[in-house]
Amino acid sequence: MDVGWKAAPAPAAAGETPAATGTPEPLETTVYVTRTGKRFHRGNCGYLKSKISLSRANALLNGYTPCKICNP
Ligand SMILES: [Zn+2]
Repeated sequence: MDVGWKAAPAPAAAGETPAATGTPEPLETTVYVTRTGKRFHRGNCGYLKSKISLSRANALLNGYTPCKICNP
């Protein structure tokens, strides 16, 4: 028996992408760490003995915690 009937392929969904979310994240702020410490600081903090700059997000990812003095 020949079933002479084929369902038409459904058209692919239109490529509707939502607009980019414009939430400003402050994680790209540059902070500074020292070579030995586990805290990150603002650039003008007096506790900074050596300055290694990285983004705040990276500092958090690497286990650094914000300095309690300069509160970056
Ligand atoms: Zn500090």
